[in-house]
Amino acid sequence: MCEQCGSGKVKVFLDMEAGTMQLCLNCYNERMSEELEVNLEQMVDSFSLKDYEGTTRTFFVEIHLYPTGICLEAVENIEFGYKFAVHGELNSNQQDLLKKLMDKTRKGIGEKQVETKVFPNGLSYYTLMNDQFTGLIECDEASDGVPLSLIEIVHSFFCLEFPLVITHQTN
Ligand SMILES: [Zn+2]
Repeated sequence: MCEQCGSGKVKVFLDMEAGTMQLCLNCYNERMSEELEVNLEQMVDSFSLKDYEGTTRTFFVEIHLYPTGICLEAVENIEFGYKFAVHGELNSNQQDLLKKLMDKTRKGIGEKQVETKVFPNGLSYYTLMNDQFTGLIECDEASDGVPLSLIEIVHSFFCLEFPLVITHQTN
């Protein structure tokens, strides 16, 4: 249970001078919003889109406010479901960010990317189709390819996308 409101599910461990606090996303964002002086706009809680098979999938929208920026996540409402994320600057337009997230989600579930295959011994495994990944960690667009700092990597780590995350750099 969230230590502040006593009802929300704990999503964030906040390290402070006074010690660690376990907070739900709402209380966490409320605190960050005050600290960073960024207003979080009212946003849709969820949206539904059809995937490549025509199946309707529903995603919850989660917003995470970090000192380094805003992270918006679309988390599918099932266990082991899809997860997509976009990042923006603290002062970026939040509705545009939401639109970007929905576009990315639509694209992500619009094509089949992972296939389940079975080894002769009966073990199943996943394989990528078309040798393509779209589940990359998204780098900060403003950083212009500058290597991420550790805090940003940690930040990105919590905004992982489904199904695969490749951190290998090709330069
Ligand atoms: Zn709370």
